[in-house]
Amino acid sequence: MLEAPFNIKQLLPSHQWSVGLRWVAKPMLLPRLGGVYILLMHLQESTHIILPKLGATTLKSGYYFYVGSANGVAGLAIKVSRHWLNKQDAGQKTTVDYLREHMTMQGAWVIPDTAHTTLACDVASAFSQSKCEVIKDSNGGDCHCDSHIFYIEDK
Ligand SMILES: [Zn+2]
Repeated sequence: MLEAPFNIKQLLPSHQWSVGLRWVAKPMLLPRLGGVYILLMHLQESTHIILPKLGATTLKSGYYFYVGSANGVAGLAIKVSRHWLNKQDAGQKTTVDYLREHMTMQGAWVIPDTAHTTLACDVASAFSQSKCEVIKDSNGGDCHCDSHIFYIEDK
């Protein structure tokens, strides 16, 4: 999918986007920079899955967004391609890892910006004020957001 299926600026009008925001359609095009990313995944058919802490959940078909940050050197290339290729970090699987196993990657928006340490949470907050639904996230701990995972139905 070379074009993003959504205009993210229209979807989240409450967020002030950095000029560096861009859509990436292939993992090899990810920038070797740190920053914030928004994964876009698609679920073809509604699916019953068991998530850590949240238990049995039915996911509706449609699009799922995950907002994350990757601050190391080449962080965006390393971390986003790991999601893209469905390779998990060593350690505990997170909710987005479970979702990713059932979904197809459509692409990602990246914001190469490591100066604003709250940027990922600011983007998540803009999602929670949008028409997207919040998907309860089990990963709480390092921030106070309800979630960094959001859903919108197929257009
Ligand atoms: Zn947050």
